Amino acid sequence: MKVNKRSVSKISEVDFGDLGFGRYYTDHMIVKKYKDKAWQETEIIPYGDFPVSPANITLHYGQSIFEGMKAFRGVDGIVRLFRPEKNIHRLNYSAERIAIPLMPDEKKTLEELMELVKMDQEFTPGHMGSSLYIRPFIFAMDPALGVKIADTYRYMVIMTPVDAYYGKNLKTLSIYATKNYTRAALGGTGHVKASANYAQSLYAAKEAQEKGYQQILWLDYKEHKYIDEVGTMNMMFVIDDTLITPSLKQGTILPGITRESVLHLARDLGWKVEERRISLQEIIDASESCKLQDCFGTGTAATIAPVGRIGYDDGKDIIINKEEVGPYAQKIYDELLGIQYGKLKDKYGWTVEIPKQS
Ligand code: PMP
Repeated sequence: MKVNKRSVSKISEVDFGDLGFGRYYTDHMIVKKYKDKAWQETEIIPYGDFPVSPANITLHYGQSIFEGMKAFRGVDGIVRLFRPEKNIHRLNYSAERIAIPLMPDEKKTLEELMELVKMDQEFTPGHMGSSLYIRPFIFAMDPALGVKIADTYRYMVIMTPVDAYYGKNLKTLSIYATKNYTRAALGGTGHVKASANYAQSLYAAKEAQEKGYQQILWLDYKEHKYIDEVGTMNMMFVIDDTLITPSLKQGTILPGITRESVLHLARDLGWKVEERRISLQEIIDASESCKLQDCFGTGTAATIAPVGRIGYDDGKDIIINKEEVGPYAQKIYDELLGIQYGKLKDKYGWTVEIPKQS
């Protein structure tokens, strides 16, 4: 790997008291080109813009995928990644579906990414809920207007110090279950992190925001009856002391790494867990019979995002825990973030420490 360092760091420009999400970027980024049917040597170079042809295939047809992972500064000052090998693996899983050449060596890809985090680790903020958000992505680079699988690609990793996605304090979200739009269909790309999935969601999200909700709750494509997921997170419901989450079997939702971790934690806490189809009607019924105890989303950016209100059918609302953070969401939040921030012992081996810069 080639390394070309910036001569002066930009860290003094970062307002750590108000990071937002994606406002600042660290000093360096990874760039790796694919050409002549092979991935070339990885380079770490100063973060910055680069030229792109107006005929670039990604701009026109969206042959592009991404990942989202985080590094946390622990209470002990140590910077840790959370299950990063899962993200690298999912990057390849997405690559395959979008006909992008796979990264040849996942272990090496992770080592190189860790080197970037090590170099720029001073950008990792220290307050609870904040983190260094890491964005690996791969996109087609061919200047070619024909719709085809590209011959050239670029893998890049950029990093941004962030506050929690939904604000600094844990508070509840409102989501709207739309029956007008569909996120993913059987045989589609809902199970991978294809950029196009996000592009097509924006219009529906805007409509939900105009109705006074923060996000869309996507339902199944066929009947608009069963819960799929929210734009950037998987969904969990607690009904009658059982944690229920949509199963991955349909292939229309993203296999979230936070989802998997939360299910693991929940089982270890002795909670009953079910991965199955769950209908909106079941949630309405549970709410009416006072059996809906909690509802929250899980995701790398969103962490644990308690949901206080689910809108549906233009004007109806399910209110959960009086729109206050529920007990199950709070417990899982404490457990998960406890591990991520080095407050609780990581008995699962999920965290990977970043060595200090020598
Ligand atoms: N669903 C979608 C559509 C997402 O974009 C994300 C964020 N990656 C998730 C779920 C949560 O996945 P993870 O826990 O791996 O971040």
